[in-house]
Amino acid sequence: MLRVAVVGSGPSGVYTAQSLVQQDPEVLVDVLDRLPCPYGLVRYGVAPDHEKIKSLQNNLRAVLEHERVRFLGGIRIGTDGVPPARLRELYHAVVYCVGAAADRHLGVPGEELPGSWSATEFVSWYSAHPDAAADGFLRGARSAVVVGLGNVAVDVTRILARRAAELSPTDMPEAALTALASSGVTEIHMVGRRGPSQARFTTKELRELGGLPDTEVIVDEAELALDPAYGDSAGLPAAQRRNVEVLRAWASAPAQGARRRIRLRFFLRPAALLAYDGRVGAVRFERTAPDRRGGVTGTGRYEDVGAQLVLRSVGYRGVQLEGLPFDPERGTVPHLAGRVLREGAVAPGEYVAGWIKRGPTGVIGTNRPCAKETATSLLADGPALLRRELPGDPLGSLRAAGAEPVEWAGWLAIERAEAELGASLGRGVVKLADWAALRTAAGPARTGPREPRR
Ligand code: NAP
Repeated sequence: MLRVAVVGSGPSGVYTAQSLVQQDPEVLVDVLDRLPCPYGLVRYGVAPDHEKIKSLQNNLRAVLEHERVRFLGGIRIGTDGVPPARLRELYHAVVYCVGAAADRHLGVPGEELPGSWSATEFVSWYSAHPDAAADGFLRGARSAVVVGLGNVAVDVTRILARRAAELSPTDMPEAALTALASSGVTEIHMVGRRGPSQARFTTKELRELGGLPDTEVIVDEAELALDPAYGDSAGLPAAQRRNVEVLRAWASAPAQGARRRIRLRFFLRPAALLAYDGRVGAVRFERTAPDRRGGVTGTGRYEDVGAQLVLRSVGYRGVQLEGLPFDPERGTVPHLAGRVLREGAVAPGEYVAGWIKRGPTGVIGTNRPCAKETATSLLADGPALLRRELPGDPLGSLRAAGAEPVEWAGWLAIERAEAELGASLGRGVVKLADWAALRTAAGPARTGPREPRR
């Protein structure tokens, strides 16, 4: 049997495992994750009020419960963990599906002021990621600026605008729910440096903003009209044309006087975050103008937008895994159809899939063909990889290397604890938000006996 380790249990990792076992009946896959919980960004990135996308977890679960797939949580690979070279000794092949764990920076003065956060820090907090920063995002905030026009920007804008009644049925941790329920934020400015026809959000996500109770979306027609494509949107690709149509309808709608306002702004690029009393108090934007080549140039005119909370939502960035090659420009691992390249040559038995392979773009489904390509490359290399004798079941060696794996039974115990916590709070499932709680919940099952699955 070909033994494969997949590092990362997000969509790209799970789709890789699925593609491997579907294509080859002679392959065994261990899906490793540094967290005791599977599903990566489906659990810790997809917004809690997007139940339909969240339900993808059921599909991913079916893969992790496949008889030739084994989930091993709580295992860190790289710095402070199992070195990739050791992992390579324990398996015929290793597929890195570690995503893009860091945020891009704005590179403007004041970016690090208290009250300025990356959108991912905010998302991690309301998604109960155990590494999330402590509470305090909303303290004293009345106005928020969200920088960026991608789907993450739309997610955080929507969550800021939602009321407790809409958030309470979600699996959001109790502390985040309480803080959002008592939030004083009534103005949310979502600001892009380019125009409406270049925004990255998808129309479905954009439209959702218009359906939020007690909230109105405000768009300035004059700002939309700065976009050369605005007057003639017929020539735009369908997705962009639909976005422009939605924005146009909002711009012409009469004011409703709703309690909360989402202001969508365009052609403003951040120049600095301004301090007030040691915290962020405003964002200074420079007005931009289209350069007719798809980019923008500065105009030297500035506008300050008051905000006590700034969420920088300008995209993710891949992080180098110690022991693996890395292209710092692209934030990805160099590869050939998923085969890792070391100094331009294929490194036998090492593969990548997902965002660390192609960069942080696309929706969850984009990972399917990406994972399939990698799995196909790996299986084509299978006969050569199988020539190497392995030391036996890697689990014992991983434990000997200091890892404390949380197996599937441990994860199921976490799920039960989250259902019990929710019931005790009069809610549905409520996520455990810290390492200690997760470890305790996974505890006895983590090391206890389990059914042999192979
Ligand atoms: P994204 O789609 O790449 O959007 C990043 C945004 O940040 C763009 O508007 C970009 O503007 C802007 N930006 C970048 N650098 C900037 C700077 N220095 N100053 C000002 N603005 C800057 O990234 P994302 O929103 O993080 O999403 C990542 C991926 O996850 C996307 O593929 C997204 O579709 C996906 N996702 C999907 C969903 C969903 O389907 N519901 C939800 C969340 C995320 P420019 O265009 O001018 O560069």
